This record gives sequence, structure tokens and C-alpha cells, in this order.
Amino acid sequence: MNWDKSDQLYEKSKKYIPGGVNSPVRAFQAVGRSPVFIERAKGSKLYDVDGNEYIDYVCSWGPCILGHGHIGVIDAVKKACDNGLTFGAPTENEYILANLIHELMPSMELTRLVSSGTEAVMSAIRVARGYTNRDMIIKFRGCYHGHSDGLLVKAGSGALTQSVPDSKGVPYDYTKNTLVADYNDVKSVEDLFERYADKIAAIIVEPVAANMGVVLPEEGFLQFLRDITTKHDSLLIFDEVITGFRLGLGGAQEYYGITPDLTTLGKVIGGGMPVGAYGGRKEIMEMVAPIGPVYQAGTLSGNPIATAAGIETLKTLKNTPDVYTRIEFQTNKLASAIKDRFENQVCVNRIGSLMSTFFTTKKVIDFDSALTSDTNKYTNYFGYLLEKGIYLAPSQYEAMFISYAHSEEDIEKTCEIIRNCTCV
Ligand SMILES: *Cc1c(COP(=O)(O)O)cnc(C)c1O
Repeated sequence: MNWDKSDQLYEKSKKYIPGGVNSPVRAFQAVGRSPVFIERAKGSKLYDVDGNEYIDYVCSWGPCILGHGHIGVIDAVKKACDNGLTFGAPTENEYILANLIHELMPSMELTRLVSSGTEAVMSAIRVARGYTNRDMIIKFRGCYHGHSDGLLVKAGSGALTQSVPDSKGVPYDYTKNTLVADYNDVKSVEDLFERYADKIAAIIVEPVAANMGVVLPEEGFLQFLRDITTKHDSLLIFDEVITGFRLGLGGAQEYYGITPDLTTLGKVIGGGMPVGAYGGRKEIMEMVAPIGPVYQAGTLSGNPIATAAGIETLKTLKNTPDVYTRIEFQTNKLASAIKDRFENQVCVNRIGSLMSTFFTTKKVIDFDSALTSDTNKYTNYFGYLLEKGIYLAPSQYEAMFISYAHSEEDIEKTCEIIRNCTCV
């Protein structure tokens, strides 16, 4: 494969954009390569500026669950454009989308639309703090909730010390109210509640962790989080930016039968346009301005083009009964091919259409076990697949995404290439 044009664009971009990219993982740094510049995409395929074609297993990091350039979604966007791009005043689309979200995810009694997952999480936490009159929150190591200051934290040294910033530029004062626990570790959460119980506004969790690679909640873990927050009058926030409309129409909360107090959404609900949402129990969401004292706003929130894409995406998911069974079936086939090829050398974590291949012999159940992966092996695996026209996430610690547009043929071809991999 030839990447001359991509390489040239990368050099030019680096002159005016930090690292040549507008989101760090796109730079392919973790896999030691230069990024591929994409020109267009259709269905399951990406086409780069050099004319190379790839079967895409990133799907824009989740949103493109129906595949790229879905005709219904594109038409809805074009139609909406004809009426103007933004009004800064309420529109019917916002009602339709909020109503649809409530129908599919009944815990979302009131929903506020924003423009990204980061914004959704940041706002949900503000509401949780406003509602409980408490400042502290608990997050889990390895879970990602966007790039707001208070969530870019890592655990301090010593089990019960408070966390410290995980990025330069984040003041210590902005992270001192963020406590860090270990995913799937009940005791780490109990210890924090023992020490800070009446100060903890909320636990925020990815109900299925998908930002340290895919890590499933162990039996009873989510129920435990529900119980301990209820017991201490704290709120439970499910960050379903990835799992929402991905694990099923009702997200992880339906899949596991656990109802959070607040939920954050993103990715799929925009169908490829920038949309995020947060919402939940009515009395909690009534804290939000203009009816409540918690301020949150957005010039382009509920944008008519973005909501048109979101509505069409959710409606299509709702009206296409085999979406979730089919993408799960396809993902399973890929998982089998990987297990056949790398028997005993990898841990494959999969749920629904979310999957990660960790190059480790350990069972991956949390951040520490995820870190036992041999990232050099992943780098080789990634490079081999890219050369063969298979586009995986350029990092070991990301999920693989499959869309409804992936055909039998795409999957068979990918399985065959994986089975023939001699690079690892
Ligand atoms: C992607 C992601 C976010 C951040 O969403 P952006 O739209 O990138 O700001 C938050 N939480 C989770 C679980 C995510 O996967």
C-alpha cells in the first residue's frame, strides 16, 4: 500500500494543528505510524486520500452503527440543511429526539441535549452535585468520561489518598473532589464510602468499560454500585456514551436491568453529527436552568442538523429489528477467528458488538490487568491488518466497532486475514 498523499498531508497539517490532528488518538502514535487521511466513507468502507480502501472497524469510534453515509441519515441531514443551519431558538426536532430517547431509555425522563460526550458528562456531574449538595464524585481507573478538568485524574499514591491531575494544565484543586476506585473492585468503592460517605455526590461509571479496551462488569458489580449509592443518598451516573444504542436500544441499563439516576449519551445519538445528551430522573433534572439553579447552556445545543441525523439514526435502529442480533453475530465470528489464530496468547473480551483483543495471557477485568497487554504485539497486528485493508483502532486500549453495514463478505474476508496473520 502507498500512503504518499497521507504522509504529505500529515506534514502540512503538523504546521498548523498540534500533532497534525484534532484528537490525539488519530495520530497513530500508539502504533508508531503516521496517520491515514480519509477522503470519504460508505457503508463498511473507508477510502483514504491515496485511493486505498479499508474495511472500517472504528466506525468513527462508535457513532456509525448503521455504517457510513447511511442514505436515510444523509437525506435527513440534507433536508434539514435546506431549512437553515441553526436558529438559537427551540425546534420540533429537539422534542422529537428527547421523546425518542425517553421511549428507548425510560430512565431518561428529562433530557438536555449538548454537543459532545465530554459536555454531557461534565454537566451531569454538575447536576448531581447541585442536587445532592455534595462535591465529591467517584470514578474508576481506566474509565474515560471526556476531557473535562475534574475527570482527567489518576489515583494518588496510597489507597485512600485523593487523586491527582492526569494532564498538565489541570490544577490540583480541580481534581481533589474526584475519588478514584478500581473497576470491578467492590472493596475499593466501599473504602471510599466509609471515609467520605456524606460527601459523595455520585459514582460515575461506564457500565461496560470500553476505553481501556473492552472490560465487562463482573456479575453483581453494577447492582452493587446501585445499592451503595442508594444507601448513601448518592447518585449513580451511567456514562453510556459508547454503550447507549450500541449494546441494544436501551443501552447497558436495559441489558443489565439496572436503572441509574442519570445517564450520559453521545456517539450513536448523533449518527455522525456532534450530539451529546444527559438526563434522568425528573426531580433531579429539574435542577437544570432555566427551571432550576444549576446553570448549563450551549449556543449550538440541539442543533437542527445534528438532531435530524440523531432522530433518523435512532428511528432506523428502532425499526430494523435485526440490527443488534446481526452485529453481535458478526462480532462473534471475528472473535472466533481471533481466538483460533491466537489461542492462549490473547484475552478476547466481547459483549454485543463491543470487542477488544488484549495481547496478554491474563484475564482482563480492570485497568491493571489491561496494562499487562503486550502493546508491541498489538502494533504489529495493527500494521499487518492495515496493509491488508483492515482498519482497526490505532491503540490497544480501544474497542473494535462493527456496523450494520458490514457484510458477510467483509467479515469473512477479515477472518481469513486474521487467521493468516504471521506477524505476532
Ligand atoms: C467518547 C466518550 C466520551 C467523550 O465524548 P466526546 O464526544 O468525545 O466528548 C465520554 N464518555 C465515554 C464513555 C466515551 O466513550
